[in-house]
Amino acid sequence: MNNKPDSTGLDNAGAGTRAVWGGEQVRHPYNATQTPIVASAAYGYDDIDVWYDVALGKAPGFIYSRMSNPTVETLEAKIRELEMAESAVAFSSGMAAISSVLYTFLAHGDRVVSTKDSYGGTNKIFEEFLPRTGVAVTLCETFDHDDLEREIAKGCQVLYLETPTNPTLKILDIPRLVAAAKRVGAVVVADNTFATPLNQSPLALGVDVVIHSATKFLSGHGDVLGGLVCGSEALMAQVRHYREINGASLDPFSAYLIIRGMKTLALRMRQQQHSARALAEFLCTEPLVEAVNYPGLPSHPNHAVACAQMSGFGAIVSFVLVGGMDTVKLLLPRLRFAHCAGNLGAVETIYGPARTTSHVENTLEERQALGISEGLVRVSVGIEDTDDLLDDLKQAFAFVKKTLNPQLNEVHVETAN
Ligand SMILES: *Cc1c(COP(=O)(O)O)cnc(C)c1O
Repeated sequence: MNNKPDSTGLDNAGAGTRAVWGGEQVRHPYNATQTPIVASAAYGYDDIDVWYDVALGKAPGFIYSRMSNPTVETLEAKIRELEMAESAVAFSSGMAAISSVLYTFLAHGDRVVSTKDSYGGTNKIFEEFLPRTGVAVTLCETFDHDDLEREIAKGCQVLYLETPTNPTLKILDIPRLVAAAKRVGAVVVADNTFATPLNQSPLALGVDVVIHSATKFLSGHGDVLGGLVCGSEALMAQVRHYREINGASLDPFSAYLIIRGMKTLALRMRQQQHSARALAEFLCTEPLVEAVNYPGLPSHPNHAVACAQMSGFGAIVSFVLVGGMDTVKLLLPRLRFAHCAGNLGAVETIYGPARTTSHVENTLEERQALGISEGLVRVSVGIEDTDDLLDDLKQAFAFVKKTLNPQLNEVHVETAN
């Protein structure tokens, strides 16, 4: 079995085709058309010399699945095709990928610059774990590009970006910040989970390392954890070496599920972002909603930057409910076509307050300092029919109004429908 799939033929193919065929143009045992799950911890050799050559990387092959595995390599080839990267490394979760990348490129005495709005777990690495290894961490206000440029110019080894951010969907100007980082020789890392490779190509914008939580849109079915890292062969060799030792490798069963999910990525995203826009537009008209965050809305403060660097605006919308957590508790249980859960990027629509999802690791005080309101709800829009999702949200709002103001509501409910 050839485990270094030849990408020839995909060079001019679109993203949908790459998602289906990336890494899969190989002959499998028994002429199986689907990637086999190679469930073997180790690989056997009768010829000790060949074994030694493989172990030293002088000949192709596998030794031990913490180092490399055929199923996992197929997944790595697939994300490589989608991000148009030289190389990719798979991890057991998005956080395994993020922490491994940071620990690969940062050592005692180094400095990393990032923003306050990154994923809650990433924020914990910055606030809790990196400082105790002697790495200086500077987190800037996410919107303040001037401050980011100033901090980068002071010198840093890594600039870490996440855009759009979770859960407030702020947009960072990637080319502008990459230019600042290049002036000081920093490695630029970008978490591309929310955008997906279909909507944003960070490597083409000058980023060095792209990270995905494959748990989300890439796998797309909420049934598996995984993380993926892409970049140049030279940088990925360092990341791969770190993974071999820290052991945060992806198992082949999970790799198979992610491969399977990724084939429908383009189809799913098309429907999901169509509905996301419709929901965002509806939420803007809803009196019980204080603010709506969606980069595709012209009212979004960074809409112009989003248009310049993204080809689509994704399937995550967030909004702030009037009345905070009390309203959240009334609205969410009324939704029929939605999980209330701490995940996103699945075929089902998923609603969750920031308090129990992206920022569950943070205290109330920390959330307040980050500007995360208790009434903030994140919606990961699924592949259901757009009208069903809109109707569902409308009936849930009608219920909330009736509960909050029983008399007035006869009228309100009528007009809502
Ligand atoms: C979920 C998520 C992560 C963490 O990924 P896991 O697979 O849950 O470890 C990192 N970044 C973003 C933007 C995420 O949404």
